[in-house]
Order: sequence, then C-alpha cells, then structure tokens
Amino acid sequence: MTLDVAVNIRSRGLNYEENLLWDKARSDEPGVDLPVPEGLRLRTGADARGEIGLPQVSEPQVLRHFVRLSTMNYSIDSGFFPLGSCTMKHNPRLNEKLARLPGFANLHPMQPESTVQGALEVMYTLQQYLGELTGLPGVCLAPAAGAHGELAGMMTIRRAHEARGEVQRDTVLIPDSAHGTNPATAAICGYKVKTIVTKETGRLTLEAFREALGDGVNVAGMMVTNPNTCGLFEGRIVEIAGLLHAAGGYFYCDGANFNALVGKIRPADFGVDVMHINLHKTFSTPHGGGGPGSGPICVTEALAPFMPVPVVEKTGERYRLQTEDDRPETLGRLKGFHGQFGMHVRALAYIMSHGNDGLLQVAEDAVLNANYIMSQLKEDFHVPFEGPCMHECLLTDKAQKEAGVTTLDIAKTLVEYSFHPMTVYFPLVVQGAMLIEPTETESQDSLDRFIVAMKSIAEDVRAGDSGRFHDFPVSTPRRRLDEVRAAKEPKLRWKR
Ligand SMILES: *Cc1c(COP(=O)(O)O)cnc(C)c1O
Repeated sequence: MTLDVAVNIRSRGLNYEENLLWDKARSDEPGVDLPVPEGLRLRTGADARGEIGLPQVSEPQVLRHFVRLSTMNYSIDSGFFPLGSCTMKHNPRLNEKLARLPGFANLHPMQPESTVQGALEVMYTLQQYLGELTGLPGVCLAPAAGAHGELAGMMTIRRAHEARGEVQRDTVLIPDSAHGTNPATAAICGYKVKTIVTKETGRLTLEAFREALGDGVNVAGMMVTNPNTCGLFEGRIVEIAGLLHAAGGYFYCDGANFNALVGKIRPADFGVDVMHINLHKTFSTPHGGGGPGSGPICVTEALAPFMPVPVVEKTGERYRLQTEDDRPETLGRLKGFHGQFGMHVRALAYIMSHGNDGLLQVAEDAVLNANYIMSQLKEDFHVPFEGPCMHECLLTDKAQKEAGVTTLDIAKTLVEYSFHPMTVYFPLVVQGAMLIEPTETESQDSLDRFIVAMKSIAEDVRAGDSGRFHDFPVSTPRRRLDEVRAAKEPKLRWKR
C-alpha cells in the first residue's frame, strides 16, 4: 500500500479530507449487510434479501465520518461572521436551555389547548412584546422565515385592498437596492414591480419617490427596508410614507435590519403598516444551518383583521388559538400548525433577559460597532455613500480594482486569514459592494483583528503585490469553487 492510499494525501495536520462513505467501503469488511448464512430458510418464507446498496463500513468508521463532517461547518460559534444583512449574532445559551425544557420540547401541536396553556402564554407574550417594539399591535407568529413573512404581509395588504374593492391597485414600489425577496414576494402576490431609483444617493429621495408614485391610483404599496440594504437610515421616510398613504397605498417594511432600531424607535412611528421580523436575526435565534428561521409579522390595528391565522388570544386567564371562525376576514392559514414554536421560546427568552434597556443597548452597540469598522477602514477602502452608517457598513473595491484586485479576491483572502467574508456584491446597485455587519456581540478585540486583516490586504495591494490575491485561499481543503456550476448542475445522488 502506498502512502497516499494509507493516509489520504489531502489530509493535513489534523484536518481530514473526508470522502463519501461509499468511497471508504471495502467489500471484504462486513458492515450492515452481513453475509447470508448458507442453507438458511427465512422464517417469513420470502426470498433471501438482495443487497440494498448501503456502504459496507463499520460503526467507528460511520461515527468518525459524521463527527469529522460536523467540524467542517464554519459558524458563529467558531468565529467572527460579518455577513451583512444577516445579523449573525451570538445565540445565548440561556435561550437554548429554555427551549429544551421538556415542557416545551416535548409538546405536540395537536395536544388539546387545555394542556398547553404555558406554551400559548409564551406565544401570546411574544406577540405582545413584538407589537410593542414595532408599534404595530396585530401580530401573527406563523410565518416560517423572513421571506415567508413578506408573503404573509403582502397578502394581508392585498386582502385589505380587495375588501375595499380597490382591485385596480396592481403595482408595488420597491427601491433598486432591495433584497431580492422583496420583488419576488410582490410578483408571487400577482403585483407588478415599479423600481424607485436610489443608485446615485444610496437613500430614497422625495423626487425619486414622487417619480415612481405618479398619480398613485394603481399603487398597492411600497416595500422598503429601513435602515436600507446600504446600511443607511432613510431620512425622508416620514414624508415618503405620508405621500404613499395619501395616495391610498400601504407601507410594507422589510424588518430584516431591525437590529439597528430595536428598543430605540418604533417603525409604526415612521409610517409602517406591516413589517416582518426575522427572529433569527434581531432576536438571536440560530440560523444559517443552526436552526429554522421564524418571520412573524406585525401590522396596524386596521390591517389586523386580514392577517393570517392562527393568533393567540387571551380571555381572562385562558389562552386559545383564534382560527378562521374567529376572524372572518383573515386570509387564512399559510402553514400547518402554529409556526416555529422553539424559536418563539428562544426569542422571548432573549427579549426578557435583555429588557427594555438591554434591547436599546443592542441597537446602539450594533450601530457603534459598524461605525467603528467604517471609521477604521475608510482610508483604505472606498466608502460609496456619505454619513455615518447604521448597523452595517458598506465598502467597495474601487481603490483596489485598478490593481486588478476585486471584491471576490478580498473575500477569498479573508478566508485564507481565517475570517468568514462579509456579504459581497450586494446590494446589486453598488459596484463591487462589500457589506460588513459586525453585530453588537463582537468584542473590540475581534473587530480589531478583522480591521488589521482588511488593512493588510489594502496595504499589500498598494505595494503592488496583487497577483497572489487571485490564488487565495490556498490553505483550505477546497480552493475556488465553480459556484455557478455547483448551483446549476448539482450532483444530488451518488452513483456507483
Ligand atoms: C435576510 C433578509 C430577508 C429574508 O429573510 P429570510 O429569513 O432569509 O427569509 C429579506 N430581506 C432582507 C433585507 C434580509 O436581510
């Protein structure tokens, strides 16, 4: 046996090259398919079983395989995760502990309501708190993610227009910097999308909004993220919401960036009618492979009759789930059962353990951390829009591009330096965008390390040492992947 067979030559140090289990299988080692004893008559009278095609590997091999795979996932528990627009904050272990209490973890959604009063109280209390934090009192916890919340919210708006007979309203206004889920949601709801141009300014202007609104008779509403996807607060939002409302439209706020505002301002106060909240962003429930999303929606009192069911109601000391029978104008159910209950427990634990003052500090520290990074890097990287940022800062590769080093090269170099990259090439309207969201849970030490890595990249580019950037990362098990091909021609099955 040669050395590269004995030790897989791609394994280095204690980092293993992990092949598929089938590649490890050696037919002479018994695994799950024990050889059929000769001359044995099966008691069922059936023919002897054929091979079922599972790899012939032993229990320790299987165990090692999956344990090794589990160590390959980069996560917020292993390091800094500055992915803009994703709010990769620490998931407090207290939340996990509470979600695992047997009284919560072992519930079945079809149990009689009288046996799950505590769980319903958790959901009811979360509804109340989310209503208070947004200023939008109608809350439905059912949507299973942010994008699902967008769908729930836009269907609510559609239903309200239909109830008033305003079926000519077939258009939704969306800024060009929006997250892709916004126009996708509007389209799935049957709306036409009209773009509000912000490309030059990074923010909504009254002129661009008026231009998109026109006479407004066909406008159902707008979908706006605030702070927006460039990490900037929309300073004209109150006037814009006023113009939209005067034209009979509703303001859908994409609440994915609520971490910049939570406890500080209530979106209803700047004119929002409907908003989703990503519990897995602002309220710290695990995501990105760590757990399911959860995207409750919050709506004004006027829109509450139309939102989906179920909604938890409290009468006296009893809690119950309202259904279609209690809410004749509801758009109905969007999924089975009651939403991601485990995430409701975690989010409530997060809110209660922070309190009013703690949540306010979350928003302020998130904004402070992003501005710290921006202030340290603005000499080295181009900052496309003026003014302080909110909870994420936007840079571009403009200063490096002339030397042939692009945003992609910078992101891959960060991987070589053991950092998860920032969000790249989003928002789409900004050339070579790098969107950095540190969140409030990073220490100054970890921010400083990231800043040093970024500065040293800029310095090396200035020193003319740019060729090597196209090769990074070089120390990882895989290097640059053909991501387009992987997405377009995924191999989902192992074939012999
Ligand atoms: C994350 C995000 C969404 C979508 O939320 P999911 O929970 O991933 O479905 C929508 N809009 C913005 C701005 C986001 O950052």
